This record gives sequence, C-alpha cells and structure tokens, in this order.
Amino acid sequence: MLDVVDIGKRSLATYRGVAPDEQLDALSRCAERLRGARCLHLSATPYGGGVSEILRSLVPLYNDLGIVADWKLIHGDDTFFQVTKRIHNGLQGAPGALTESEKAIYLANSQLNARRLIADSEDYDFIFVHDPQPLALATLSGNRDARWIWRCHIDTSRPNPSFWELLAPYLLDYDAAIFTLQEFIPPALPIEHVRVYPPAIDPLSPKNHPLPQPLARDVLEWIGIRTHRPLVTQVSRFDRWKDPMGVVRAYQRVRPHVPDLQLALVGSLAMDDPEGWDCYEEVRAATVHDSLIHVLTNLVGVGNVEVNALQAYSDVVVQKSLREGFGLVVAEALWKGTPVVGGRVGGIPLQLREDSGGILVDSVEECAEAMLHLLRQPDEARLLGARGREHVRQHFLMPRLLLDHLHLLDTLSS
Ligand code: UDP
Repeated sequence: MLDVVDIGKRSLATYRGVAPDEQLDALSRCAERLRGARCLHLSATPYGGGVSEILRSLVPLYNDLGIVADWKLIHGDDTFFQVTKRIHNGLQGAPGALTESEKAIYLANSQLNARRLIADSEDYDFIFVHDPQPLALATLSGNRDARWIWRCHIDTSRPNPSFWELLAPYLLDYDAAIFTLQEFIPPALPIEHVRVYPPAIDPLSPKNHPLPQPLARDVLEWIGIRTHRPLVTQVSRFDRWKDPMGVVRAYQRVRPHVPDLQLALVGSLAMDDPEGWDCYEEVRAATVHDSLIHVLTNLVGVGNVEVNALQAYSDVVVQKSLREGFGLVVAEALWKGTPVVGGRVGGIPLQLREDSGGILVDSVEECAEAMLHLLRQPDEARLLGARGREHVRQHFLMPRLLLDHLHLLDTLSS
C-alpha cells in the first residue's frame, strides 16, 4: 500500500473576499461537470518543498467541490532518494550520468511502488504525478484506465540528455503534462496535452494567514531574531541551486553599510533531499562565527508560523536562486507585502515584474546592491511590496491553480 497523507477539510467559500471572485465563480461552474470524478496526486514527500506545500492546500479543495481527491506518497530508502535527487539535478541541466546500479535502484524502487499502487486497487479517473520521483509508475503499474498527468515543477528547459533519455520512455504513457513556463517544455515531448501554468500559494494556510504584529514579533524573538534590528531573510531548502552561500556573500557586502543588519537563512531538511544536509553543513560552517546570521531549520522547530513571521517581518526577502521552477517563497513574501530581491531565473521573473514586487538580480554584487537599495528606500520598498501583493492575488492564489487543473481534467474527460 502507498501511504495516504492525512489532510483536513478546507472550504472554498472561505476564499471569498481574498481570491478574485471571478475565479471562485468559474470554479463552481467547472466543478459541476467533474463532480464525482476520482483524482489521485502522487508525490515523494509530505513536507519540505513546494510540492507538499501545494498539495496540502489543493487536495482538500477538490473534495470541497465534490471531486474525490487523495494524496499518496511513494516509498523509497536513502539510496533511492539520492538517485532521484541526481535525476532532479540532471533534468535541471547538471552534468554527469547515472551509473548502471543507480538506474537499477530507480527501476527497482519504481517497480515496488507500482506494485503498491496496484495493491491499493482504487479506481482513479485522473492520476497526477509530481516531479520525476514517481514518474515511472504510469508505465510500471500498467494502469491504462486512469488519465495520467505529469506535473513537472522544475526547470527542464535544458535537461542533461543522459537523464532525459532515461525518463522520456516513461512519458509515453502520459496523457498530459504541465509546466510552469513555456521554455521549460523539454525538446520532443511525446505527450498530447501540454499545459503551461504556474503553481500557487494558499492565502489561508498557517504560513500565509495574517499574523497580528505582536504575535509575529514574539515568534521571532523566540527563535533568536532581534525585532529592533533590520532583517533580510531567505527561506529555501538547503540546495546549491538556491545559492545560500551567494546570499551570505551578498549580505556580507551590505553589512558595512548597515552594521546591525541580521540575516536569516531558513531551510527545511526534507527526507527526499539527502544533499540538503551537506549544503546545510557548508552554510553553518561559513556563518557560525557571526551572531547576526541565523541559520534556522525545521529541526529546531522553525515551521509554518515562524516562516510566516519571518516573511512578514523582514525588511527584504531574498531568493537568490540560480535555477528555479517557480519559487513559491517569492509569492509568499509578496503576499505579506514584503519586497523581494530575486534571481532572474525560472518562475521568479513571473512574480517580480517591472516596478512591482522587487528587484531581479544576476549576481552577488547586484543582489547586495538591491538589498541595500531597498533597505535605504523603505517607502519605495513598501510600494513594491504592495504592488507585488496585488499581482499575487490576481495570479498566484490557490483557486486559480485549481481552476487551471479542472480545465485540464475537463478536456481530458471529453
Ligand atoms: N519552506 C518551509 N520551510 C523551510 C524552507 C521552505 O516551509 O525551511 C517552504 C516554503 O515556505 C515554500 C516551499 O517550502 O512554501 C518551497 O517552495 P519553492 O517553490 O520556493 O521551492 P522548492 O523547494 O519547491 O524548490
């Protein structure tokens, strides 16, 4: 059996007045046609990273609309997740190739998971597969009754061919694929229905719900942040594509100009992300002697509410990625009206537009300049943040994502 992720109920009605009305109205109409359909989301981990963040909010909303939805996890040991992390990196263009034994690990674990899926013997009309970890299940489960959809959250515009050739045959069994940007669609994709739309954040989740100022302040003091000092934050998995060391270097350039500036680097360590531990150790070693740099993780209790407080309270949020699928953390910060300095990669420019949201950067130097500029110009920073929030409201809240998914399911069922 695959593990089912237990999630509570959510009601779309509570999004009235928060998300745009036209999206909520369109959702009810579209859901009418799909009522009673059964839908499964398959992913690798229940926490840590964007996919779990999205599914925790999205899955209950299907159920609220009368579409039965489950979220299940594939199993895997450390070696499997080391291999899938290499596949993830290879699909984002990292060099190298899997060895024969690594390929065998991927296949053997995928076969086991396919058997578990078959053993569940549930009839789904639609199966969404998130990212490359569960990708082979469409083929290996032999289930041709469901419509299979691959939701690729990463930048696959220039995949390393050796990784792409390994996975491409499994895509033949998919009916549809979804990418965040047009340019992420890999060359020669053998799938009939290809859609391009970005993910979204949940404005009503504990991470994004408005926090009263005194509570936010208490939460931050509790985790060692001094609320009378300025603060710059990056929230990311510890991953080299997120460039935490680049953030440290940019911060060190700004510090002589703003001597009491604090930096918070917040990262969760996920079970499908073994490289994260090495990256974490590297960041810790480089920053341990600086009392104004706070390296915080889920392991010391920094969870959704703490991230919420950090994103809301920071003077500037940074997301200095070198590759990025979308970067939910950018939308999360903007939703709180906090301006963002973001790497000009992947989905970040979708969120930081001309004169809205923040500043796009291409290097450590530009990142430092942009941080300093926003710290010195608080009125401009506030205005950018406010515009960014409205952009997020229109384009990157959960009802819009659900609507895009339902449109696709509607097409696939006709
Ligand atoms: N996140 C978190 N705690 C952390 C690091 C990340 O809650 O210490 C969350 C973050 O708030 C966001 C998600 O994990 O919701 C990361 O999504 P994003 O799209 O930014 O990056 P991904 O990890 O999917 O590459």
